[in-house]
Amino acid sequence: MASPQRYIAHLDLDSFFVSVEVLNNPSLKGKAVIVGGSKDRGVVTTCSYEARKFGVRSAMPMHKAMKLCPHAILVQGTRGEYSRYSRWVTEIIAAKAPLFEKASIDEFFIDLTGMDKFFDPFQWTIDLRDEIISKTQLPISFGLASNKMIAKIATDEAKPNGYLFVQPGMEKNFLAPLPVNKFSGVGESMHERLKSMGIFTIQQLSETPVAELEKSIGKYGVDLWKKSQGIHEGIVQPYHEAKSISTENTFEENQTDEAFLLSELVRMTEKVAYELRTDKKLTGCIAVKIRYPDFETTSKQTTIDYTLRDDELIPVAISLFHQLYRKGQPIRLLGVRLSELTSHVLQGSLFEDNKKDELYKAIDAVKNKFGKTALQKARTIRGGLNKS
Ligand SMILES: [Mg+2]
Repeated sequence: MASPQRYIAHLDLDSFFVSVEVLNNPSLKGKAVIVGGSKDRGVVTTCSYEARKFGVRSAMPMHKAMKLCPHAILVQGTRGEYSRYSRWVTEIIAAKAPLFEKASIDEFFIDLTGMDKFFDPFQWTIDLRDEIISKTQLPISFGLASNKMIAKIATDEAKPNGYLFVQPGMEKNFLAPLPVNKFSGVGESMHERLKSMGIFTIQQLSETPVAELEKSIGKYGVDLWKKSQGIHEGIVQPYHEAKSISTENTFEENQTDEAFLLSELVRMTEKVAYELRTDKKLTGCIAVKIRYPDFETTSKQTTIDYTLRDDELIPVAISLFHQLYRKGQPIRLLGVRLSELTSHVLQGSLFEDNKKDELYKAIDAVKNKFGKTALQKARTIRGGLNKS
């Protein structure tokens, strides 16, 4: 039996952070707006299309952006608001979509394969987009195609505030005229390299013998060639709350020492936050679990603004612990779990560009190099000593 025609929709909010800022401050509408870090040391997280016209791009150093577009209005960004809108859009999609992936804070894939028996996938996605726009007022674009890669590129071509359906069988035609750096992973140096080989368009790439690509670029050349044929096997990874990063500790002896329990909690939160950053993820939900010696198990969770930072997670974990813990009772097991995970693909200031995050990067680098136990904050070390 032939495999069914695949239909994958990719939805992406247009310059999401700027759109949220404009909603909250309509005087920014139609202006060159940059969301990002400080003028001297920060980078551009995202910018409005008006700023893009002047050549401003994501991840560009702010001083360069301000040189290109001196009249741009610089906004520091309100992370809580972005989390709130991101959740709102997720809820609208979750209520309708049979299977969806939250690829990042403002980006979604929906697998509509098999649904064409019941409705027209293109019209369905148009209706979903209309609903998102009418409810949230946020501009959003989508691409619909037979695989994730084509759908994502189609979204890119449809922006701003549009949509595009690449009909089954038209994948190669759609890709042919596009520049090779439309493929994710083709950065500046790879782009230069391909150009030096005389390969500018995806069509030229697709017509280059695969052996030649392999010889000059290696295995990645084969990947690129496959992509140029419109081939991509990636599946839509279902987004559900069960997906999580967690750790728990069963104590050899039941514990009542609250200072020790808190230091354990901090250590475990640091551990899961480290895993979160290693996986390049953000979390939107944290839970603490306590088990008493009679095996009664309680847990409490709360949604939070999307983050990857210890100093934002630890106070929430401690607060959950205090809400949960029946003072003076011995504890057999303590656990921490992060869920509502989404990829951290955003460049720039919002989630990482400040001194503290440079510190995390340094800590994570040491952990990577010497093993995870090599570096612990004083408080955690005290906890460790208590245990022995
Ligand atoms: Mg976006």
